[in-house]
Amino acid sequence: MLKKCENPNIEIYTKTCKKRIFNLSSIRLPEGLKKKCVWCLSDLKGQQRRWCGTECVESAQAWGNPQKEWGLGILLIRQNFKCNICAFDWGAVIEAMYQKPKMPYGMSECKNTWRTKFSYWLTVKLKDEMHMTDLPHRIEVDHILAISKGGQSLGLDNHQAVCYACHKAKTKKDNSGPRKKIDKLNKPDQNDTEGNND
Ligand SMILES: [Zn+2]
Ligand SMILES: [Zn+2]
Repeated sequence: MLKKCENPNIEIYTKTCKKRIFNLSSIRLPEGLKKKCVWCLSDLKGQQRRWCGTECVESAQAWGNPQKEWGLGILLIRQNFKCNICAFDWGAVIEAMYQKPKMPYGMSECKNTWRTKFSYWLTVKLKDEMHMTDLPHRIEVDHILAISKGGQSLGLDNHQAVCYACHKAKTKKDNSGPRKKIDKLNKPDQNDTEGNND
C-alpha cells in the first residue's frame, strides 16, 4: 500500500517544512542522482520522468497532503475505519453504502478491497456521505501534536482521523493552558483547528 521512501530529502522536508501541503513537483533527488524515482530511488524506465509508478505517487501524496483524501484514506485503513478517539465506526457506514441500490461513482471497483487498499473515490464518497447524514461524525484529520506546539505537518506520523465532535473537544483542550492568553489576543490559527478543510 504505502511504498517505503528512500529519498533522504523527504526526511529533511518533513523536519523543516511547516507548510500543510508540500508540492510534489518540488521534491528533489539527492545530489548527483539522475533518472531515478523521486520517492523510492529506483531506476526510471521508458517514458517515466519522476515516478516509477502510481504506488510511489500515492505514497508521496499521503506524505505531502496528509490532511487531504490521500492521507486520510491511508489513516482510515490504519485505524480500521474507526475514529481514533471515540471509535465511531465509518466501516459500518461504508458497508451500508454498498447496500444501497445505486452505488456512488467509483466505489464498485474497490468493493472487496477497501479495507486494505487505498481508494481515492471511496474516501471522497465516505466524506460526502458523512456530511449529508451525520455531521457530528463527519471525518476530519487532526494533528496529534498541534503544529503550534512543534508537531510535524508532513507525513502521517503526527496525524489521525477523528470525527468532528472529538476533534472539536480535543482542539478546545489543546488551546487551553499556557497559550490561552495569546489565543485571546490573536486570532487562533484556523487551519490548525479545522482539519481536512478545503
Ligand atoms: Zn518509485
Ligand atoms: Zn470520535
